[in-house]
Amino acid sequence: MAEYKVPLKDMSFLLYEVFKADDMWQKLPKLAEQVDKDTAQAILQECAKIAEQELAPIARQGDEIGVSFSDGVVTTAPGYKEAFNTYAEGGWTALGGDVNYGGMGMPKMLTALHEEMLCSADISFALYPVLTAGAALSLAKHGSDELKERYLTRMYSGDWSASMCLTEAHAGSDLGIIRTKAIPQDDGSYSITGNKIFITGGEHDLTENIVHLVLAKLPDAPAGPRGISLFLVPKFNVNDDETLGEHNKVSCGSIEHKMGIHASATCVMNFDESQGYLIGELNKGLACMFTMMNFERIGVGIQGLGAAVRSYQNALEYAKDRLQGRALDSKVKGVKNPAQEADSIMVHGDVRRMLLNMKALNEGSRALSSYIAMQLDYATYGEGEEQQKGEALAALMTPVAKAFFTDIGFENTVTGQQVFGGHGFIREWGQEQLVRDARITQIYEGTNGIQAMDLLVRKVASSKGVLLKVFTDEVSAYIDDNQNEAGMAEFIAPLTEAVNDLTELTTELLTKSEANINELGASANDYLHVFGYTAMAYIWARMAQVSLTKQDSNGECGDNFYQSKLHTARYYFTRVLPRRISLIAAAKSGCDCMFDINDELF
Ligand SMILES: Cc1cc2nc3c(=O)[nH]c(=O)nc-3n(C[C@H](O)[C@H](O)[C@H](O)COP(=O)(O)OP(=O)(O)OC[C@H]3O[C@@H](n4cnc5c(N)ncnc54)[C@H](O)[C@@H]3O)c2cc1C
Repeated sequence: MAEYKVPLKDMSFLLYEVFKADDMWQKLPKLAEQVDKDTAQAILQECAKIAEQELAPIARQGDEIGVSFSDGVVTTAPGYKEAFNTYAEGGWTALGGDVNYGGMGMPKMLTALHEEMLCSADISFALYPVLTAGAALSLAKHGSDELKERYLTRMYSGDWSASMCLTEAHAGSDLGIIRTKAIPQDDGSYSITGNKIFITGGEHDLTENIVHLVLAKLPDAPAGPRGISLFLVPKFNVNDDETLGEHNKVSCGSIEHKMGIHASATCVMNFDESQGYLIGELNKGLACMFTMMNFERIGVGIQGLGAAVRSYQNALEYAKDRLQGRALDSKVKGVKNPAQEADSIMVHGDVRRMLLNMKALNEGSRALSSYIAMQLDYATYGEGEEQQKGEALAALMTPVAKAFFTDIGFENTVTGQQVFGGHGFIREWGQEQLVRDARITQIYEGTNGIQAMDLLVRKVASSKGVLLKVFTDEVSAYIDDNQNEAGMAEFIAPLTEAVNDLTELTTELLTKSEANINELGASANDYLHVFGYTAMAYIWARMAQVSLTKQDSNGECGDNFYQSKLHTARYYFTRVLPRRISLIAAAKSGCDCMFDINDELF
């Protein structure tokens, strides 16, 4: 496998040239105290060192040895504990945390790039701190001061980690039917009893305590999602002097043996009258959990991107070295590599197609992810209209980040494997691990099918298109402002068509759904991808615009960076964006062909 190199140049390009993050940070008073360009650059560079030097090297043995389980004890693969200690001692577990409890309060635009580095290095490792960061976010927003004082500081220090306990054997996508019970106790705590499955980081040896965020229902709670409450259940109770007390009645029953992410512990967790503490209000637990789930959904999208970036780096290095066949045009233009018995496979159109698909989709995903992170920063630190717009766009785009980035992320791991031919299928080169590791990203944290429903039904249809309009208005204003700019026509024209088609498709689906609601379920997946390719086109246009103005200089980024960007933008608009046309045709074809067929005829 090629050595992982963090794409720092691309990250700086996005932050400072495309999105002007440094201006934004200065403008928002709460962020201005915490971050400026120098701090951000130092953070990215140091994080890159950890990812490249500490985490990427352990991923292979993590996959081969994996986690082990014996008598309720989960042991992580060799090297993981040391790597986690190095990571925590470096302060990385505090990066995005609340400054009032020892966090560094860094903006999402930075922490998202940090997450990408972790995930390119090793998704399994990344899951431990990223889930902890999500749990801390939910606790910071909804927890009582007492719970925050007691738990947050130690989560940010990396002494304690966290898990997210939603899923039960009979309740995955449908959390409204969970059976875990919470009984109120005289001292104000709750007794939690139930079994959760598939809990990432539910038990392990990386930290001295594990803070479980558990969904449960009181006996008299309303049925369905409106009866769910959220509880904090520590593995070890915490004494008043903040030392660790007795082991709570929570245990790991077993771990799963699975297709990928072998170094991540996926646990069956048994809560047996465990002591738990309410987070937020009774019966409003799902909303509190959504603070964590939305964070993790974008995080899972970034996992897909992380694996895809690694796949591209490996495939590119391999393609440059691998000699097979001669270029098709050898007879006309002469042999390209006469000193060798064959040309590098880079001469073949199909290999160039695979590499450019990966490059265009990866750079587009990183840029769109940064754009979404920027909306989250406006939502958290902005004020007035700017803040409301940030919230609206973040809500609209969260399911897109999760599902679109992981679908194309998985596609890109498979494409990278294909570039290797048979050598991609065997273990030696590491490509097959990326495929196996990336596959789960399409499934957990709400399957991509559930994300598509979230986008089309909960976000677009429920708001009667208003949320979507926040996005399409921004794109239309961008088009109006830039359509006459020199060199931009080749990007603006297809972007205009794409955004008009998205609006038209939305109107058609919402209208049809008034007569038959199944129209939404049947077209949701296609719709999400149409949205994803269109949103990515908007971001590619913005990247192309910056690159056009700088193409004659090597600029801050150097290495013909801007020429490469422009070529890739052209590839995206001519070869990738047209995918939306077949998706639109499928989405418009109606739901009858799916529902007219009786179940017995399947
Ligand atoms: C390795 C791993 C780690 C995990 N980590 C965690 C964790 O840390 N915490 C946690 O709580 N859970 C975790 N999970 C659970 C994961 O989030 C669930 O598996 C996932 O949400 C899907 O639930 P399910 O498996 O029960 O599938 P189901 O809900 O049974 O879904 C089956 C199929 O039906 C579709 N479907 C279901 N309902 C609908 C609907 N309304 N509309 C359209 N399609 C629908 C789904 O998209 C899917 O294709 C993990 C799972 C795995 C495998």
